[in-house]
Amino acid sequence: MPYAASQSRYTEMQYKRAGKSGIKLPAISLGLWQNFGGNQPIENSRAMILKAFDLGINHFDLANNYGPPAGSAEETFGAVYKKDLTPYRDELLISTKAGYYMWEGPYGEWGSRKNLLSSLDRSLTRMGLEYVDIFYSHRPDPETPMEETMGALDHAVRQGKALYVGLSNYSAEQTLEAVAILMQLGTPCLIHQPNYSMLNRWIEDGLQDVLTEHGIGSIAYCPLGRGQLTNKYVDKIEAESKLSSSTMKPEAIAAQRVQKFRSLEAFAAGRGQTLSQLALSWALREGGVTSALIGVSRVSQIEENVKALEGAPLTKQEISEIDAIMHQ
Ligand code: NDP
Repeated sequence: MPYAASQSRYTEMQYKRAGKSGIKLPAISLGLWQNFGGNQPIENSRAMILKAFDLGINHFDLANNYGPPAGSAEETFGAVYKKDLTPYRDELLISTKAGYYMWEGPYGEWGSRKNLLSSLDRSLTRMGLEYVDIFYSHRPDPETPMEETMGALDHAVRQGKALYVGLSNYSAEQTLEAVAILMQLGTPCLIHQPNYSMLNRWIEDGLQDVLTEHGIGSIAYCPLGRGQLTNKYVDKIEAESKLSSSTMKPEAIAAQRVQKFRSLEAFAAGRGQTLSQLALSWALREGGVTSALIGVSRVSQIEENVKALEGAPLTKQEISEIDAIMHQ
């Protein structure tokens, strides 16, 4: 059946401005890292992408190496785009990245101009797009001058192959340096994509200040701790902890972990939320990130996660209670 997007796709989703830019991102975005590769049934991938869009998730995050196999998530997205989403191109925010290994030889990864610009061309071909909305340097390259990597991002914009540029996995110091170069080149950094969740709070130690000071947005990857911050995972570790019987110590550690996650789950239930919904409310709390970038393997997970936005924003008191649980 031909796809027609839901008429109500913009009624429930919240859209938040990325820093001081002109762009608003959906509070929840969809990442295609691991469950949209050529090894997955295309119908499930298609169903997830279209359900996301119907729920107002208009930002789809990709990278050259997403799959598996590497590159195939872009092909999957390209196939769905061609079949269903072409009429909606101007409503979509599509990102891709370059920096991780893609092909043999000295130019197949990292941050050279040669790698970034060739990789972007390949990504555009795989997705069947004329341009991406955001092109990221996926990781800092210790051996390439920052001027060269940022110059390549700037060039992609000037070529019309990307509208905006972003950084991922850059430390606070590296971000400061990159942002200054991009500003000089006339292509300001739109967004930073760091790992961020209740389980990984490294960005609070400097990076967030840099982003706020320079008016740059943020989109948290792995906001569910790669699935650890979900009810499903709590059940799994409890089952595993019951099985582990070799020595006292691992059992005690496992029991402590189960207790912590059960406490979080109970705290979420007290707010009428599942654990994944609480984790998303937490990432998006005041002072948190612009958007939370979720991974999913089925449509029902998207539906559950988007309902996080129906929950009341976390109060200061609730945030302290969560901190106390995490420090148990
Ligand atoms: P998450 O922390 O969102 O974990 C996703 C996993 O959680 C899913 O695969 C699924 O596991 C599980 N899950 C999600 N929702 C539910 C639910 N409601 N109930 C139960 N389980 C659930 O993130 P990812 O690690 O997948 O990363 C998200 C995105 O971030 C990626 O797709 C990518 O776009 C980006 N990313 C960027 C990186 C970078 O270096 N810039 C690095 C890593 C990710 P299951 O599959 O078992 O069902």
